[in-house]
Amino acid sequence: MSSLAKQAESAFDVEAIRQQFPILSREIDGKPLVYLDNAATTQKPQCVIDALVDYYSTCNSNVHRGAHQLADEATRRYEGARDTVAEFINAYSRNEVIWTSGTTESINVVANGLAQLLTADDEVLVTEMEHHANLVTWQQACKRSGAKLVVVPIKDTGELDLEQFSALLNTRTKLVAFPHVSNALGTLNPIADLTAQAKAVDAWVLIDGAQGIAHEPVDVQVLGCDFYVFSAHKLFGPTGIGVLWGKEALLTEWPVWQTGGEMISEVSYQDAAWNVLPYRMEAGTPNISGAIGMAEAIRWFSELDMDAVQTHEAALLESATRQAEAFDGLTIVGTAPNKVGVLSFVMDEGHPADIGFLLDRQGVAIRTGHHCAEPLMGRLGVPGTARASFSIYNTLDEVDALFAALNKVKTMLG
Ligand SMILES: *Cc1c(COP(=O)(O)O)cnc(C)c1O
Repeated sequence: MSSLAKQAESAFDVEAIRQQFPILSREIDGKPLVYLDNAATTQKPQCVIDALVDYYSTCNSNVHRGAHQLADEATRRYEGARDTVAEFINAYSRNEVIWTSGTTESINVVANGLAQLLTADDEVLVTEMEHHANLVTWQQACKRSGAKLVVVPIKDTGELDLEQFSALLNTRTKLVAFPHVSNALGTLNPIADLTAQAKAVDAWVLIDGAQGIAHEPVDVQVLGCDFYVFSAHKLFGPTGIGVLWGKEALLTEWPVWQTGGEMISEVSYQDAAWNVLPYRMEAGTPNISGAIGMAEAIRWFSELDMDAVQTHEAALLESATRQAEAFDGLTIVGTAPNKVGVLSFVMDEGHPADIGFLLDRQGVAIRTGHHCAEPLMGRLGVPGTARASFSIYNTLDEVDALFAALNKVKTMLG
């Protein structure tokens, strides 16, 4: 065992963590589940499941508008959840925390708002490693406004080409969007540096935090970005809920996108006036239980020692990378020096889909395909990859189990 791995084991009781996740004791066709699809979604600890059940069992009600006690209680928990998120990312104010259905919707809200301010003279910068959510959304916003979409290249390792990034920034650059961590490759981007450079040309900065938030500490004030977006379901919380964090001045500057209840202050048949933030951005009955579940996940996650979490996850990736490098006929896709939580690979013997199928027969859950990053796969010259992605509850034994299973896959395909 490497020194990194030993250090992780002493500081971090992974068994105690595992016990809080009921699904991890499941078997798949009689084999213990080895869940390595955490970049797609993480599992949920019992306390999050309990928070959802408790909400529906004890105080289910619509928020903000009831004249009764249940509505008060639901509103208190729901708005308390917003405070929890604000504190977690160190927002300047709770008003900057907008509930959405997830990262994808958060980016769409920003794009549909800002797109109305984009002109044909503007440029929008994204990277070659975008998830479709942070690519197609801007691509379409550019088509509508006539702005130019500029794609910053990556190197063959899956690192962003920082020289190109700097060179492509200019006074026409209106918005710069990039992922905190690449879901397909695991590349950890130098987001503070990228943000500082973009702010130097006065561009707005949106960070897609879907893959970063569960692995890296985030302080939006220190980062200096304008928007940081993420989903609860990759952070041990429920599906269908996420956050758009944005600077208050910007969120109030652009025209509203969705309209309806909650987001209005006054309505007549011919006209309407908008509510204050955060409600201005939140039309209709929100995902109340989702917000409460997300806050519980954040409370649970925040109690962990982040240094120990990161050391543990680094040990998992280090072990996986070492074994992958030694594995005959396997090629790692994405070899940036700074990576988090993801081992993407291809094998000489088989298509990624076959690898995924044969691993599943052995209880090992991974993801295969283009990982919602089709242009990136094209750029790297692969049809797709097999992707094992790690979370805090994974063990070094599970990494070994992945490679034992891959050895069998190799025999079966070979
Ligand atoms: C998962 C993911 C998204 C999309 O998140 P949803 O929860 O599906 O909206 C966007 N970007 C990255 C980097 C992701 O990993």
